[in-house]
Amino acid sequence: MIKFSGVDKWYGEYHALVDVSAEVRKGEVVVVCGPSGSGKSTLIRTVNRLEEINRGQIFFDGQNIHDKKLRINAYRSRIGFVFQQFNLFPHLSVLENITLSPMSVNGLKRAEAERKAAELLSRVGLSSKANAYPAQLSGGQQQRVAIARALAMDPPAMLFDEPTSALDPEMVGEVLSVMKSLAQEGMTMMCVTHEMGFAREVADRVWFMDAGQILETASPEEFFSRPKHARAQRFLSDLR
Ligand code: ATP
Ligand code: MG
Repeated sequence: MIKFSGVDKWYGEYHALVDVSAEVRKGEVVVVCGPSGSGKSTLIRTVNRLEEINRGQIFFDGQNIHDKKLRINAYRSRIGFVFQQFNLFPHLSVLENITLSPMSVNGLKRAEAERKAAELLSRVGLSSKANAYPAQLSGGQQQRVAIARALAMDPPAMLFDEPTSALDPEMVGEVLSVMKSLAQEGMTMMCVTHEMGFAREVADRVWFMDAGQILETASPEEFFSRPKHARAQRFLSDLR
């Protein structure tokens, strides 16, 4: 579903992605991990072209997404991206945050968009907060709204870049549990996270990055018990 083929990226002189080839299959949950600065955010951001690449190709559902002819806004609106910072619109209620794009981009009627938003809010456990404003919510609640907002566009895949890193520890679990249920429903997911418990429990594959390369791809079982690469062994032992 998401396929990287010989991808290189430079920031000026800095070689941030080095010949990356890998694939996230439909329905698969991939957790991308690795030390700070290894290129995880850069990699995930290339998928919806928040970063351009200098060589190679990235395919999404067979479509070459770094093709100059791609209609970037239409493409981007289809892919759910959840960041560390929740990026909700502060002047809009929770309900309005969720219904905005389905109405303005997909042309849904208000009643239909609101029906769908209500369903999504119930899925993320926030039915009672439809009329609240982002500032009235905890970080964990805001991040769950951000997930509901992304899901409102019926994305074929969801991208997460450290969705729990900005949260107080007691709120991490509620966000991970929403992500886990999404995974169980068969959503294709690419997640950058330091939550190794989540990786162990939910990931189908773990990609380990260092210095712009994917050094290792493995099942969580293999990765956590028998990491092949010395750099991955060191990364894991530093976490313990
Ligand atoms: P972290 O775990 O800290 O989020 P990361 O694995 O997500 O790290 P990236 O943010 O992808 O790492 O950055 C990879 C490398 O590219 C880093 O060395 C970073 O300094 C560099 N880099 C990232 N963005 C830019 C930019 N806009 N201009 C120049 N260099 C950049
Ligand atoms: Mg990052």
